[in-house]
Amino acid sequence: MKLTKTVILKLTSRDKELDRTVSKYTKGMNYVSGVVYKNNKPISVNKLQKMTYKHLRNRIGLKSQMSCNIVRQVCGTYKSLMAKVRKKKAEWQMITYKPNNITYSFRRDFTINKDWVSMTTLKGRRRYPIANYEYVKRYFDGAWKYSASKLVLHRDKSYYFHLCIEKDIQEPDTAPTTDIIGVDVGINYIAVASTTDRKNVFFSGGEAKNIRNIYSKQRKRLQSKGTRSAKRMLKHLTMREKRFMTATNHVVSKGVVEFAKTHRIPIIGMENLSGIRETTKVRKERRYQHNSWAFRQLRGFIEYKAKEQGIRVVYVNPRYTSQACSRCGHVEKANRNGLRFSCKACGYELNADLNGARNIGYKTRDFRQDLESQGCLSATHTETEKSEFQATSSNPSGFSSGS
Ligand SMILES: [Zn+2]
Repeated sequence: MKLTKTVILKLTSRDKELDRTVSKYTKGMNYVSGVVYKNNKPISVNKLQKMTYKHLRNRIGLKSQMSCNIVRQVCGTYKSLMAKVRKKKAEWQMITYKPNNITYSFRRDFTINKDWVSMTTLKGRRRYPIANYEYVKRYFDGAWKYSASKLVLHRDKSYYFHLCIEKDIQEPDTAPTTDIIGVDVGINYIAVASTTDRKNVFFSGGEAKNIRNIYSKQRKRLQSKGTRSAKRMLKHLTMREKRFMTATNHVVSKGVVEFAKTHRIPIIGMENLSGIRETTKVRKERRYQHNSWAFRQLRGFIEYKAKEQGIRVVYVNPRYTSQACSRCGHVEKANRNGLRFSCKACGYELNADLNGARNIGYKTRDFRQDLESQGCLSATHTETEKSEFQATSSNPSGFSSGS
């Protein structure tokens, strides 16, 4: 299985040469684009190379490798345009490129380490220092391969190197197992994880809940004002909250995956919330969080970090995960009483988020057994991730009894 990622690195210094190279490169792109446009249909890479190489090299003064990259890039863009034209989703048109990026091939025109990136400019190779963030260092440990990457001029007028990296990782273990972690992304706790043999971990996310409430109140106040300065403040507030939640989500997702890794658990189950509004009535206090990007982001982070460790993520139907008893399977709205879960049938009591996490764990196990019985376990990673478990057993909640 291949894991790919784009790491964005800020160049801490720049020079005129970089601007000049980007500008000429774009000139080349637009020249080649004009040639294809006039042809009224895409041209093959080889043919286009022959048609434009001399002009790119001698007239515009681009390096040989750059000229090749330009042709390949423009070819690709027109091919996808043509595909849209055939589906009547676009018209044949001239594609114009803005002077804000260059595509580089690894080794042929860039090399990189944690301190600098060396790139081809019109005056040959030059080295530019990159901001040395702590988290970036691990991408230079020798385990990652670098592929075609981009130098991009961002809106802040700084250059960033968009380094594309990949590595082969171990396929998730598909031996029969009941070792599963159910993760509930909750209200009281940002996340609760519970293993099949009932080891639990709660992630409160520190001050996250309080801070989000404060932000939410401030936002309401500003929204009702509606003045221009209130709008500006609102934007500022939103950005700050986003940064805060992203940082929290990184910490929580890392914790969940480390928990799985420590207990050598190969599967994490989470709720599939994409179709939630159609399939279930979400409790009012949960709606905000379910619809919010922060919770989607958290699930995304968990999925990504799990994949990095060769841990599989399975999404299950969220129906009744908060109302069903994780011991006896009894479903009743009144089972859930705020922070506590207290079963009206068997009297079982526990933290409501933990009850949810356990239910998700059971569903994940059922889902897995379903796959096994259908002989689908060879299904690729992505297919498994996309499929959604629907409760089909005679038990209306779709749960097996807990123990
Ligand atoms: Zn019960």
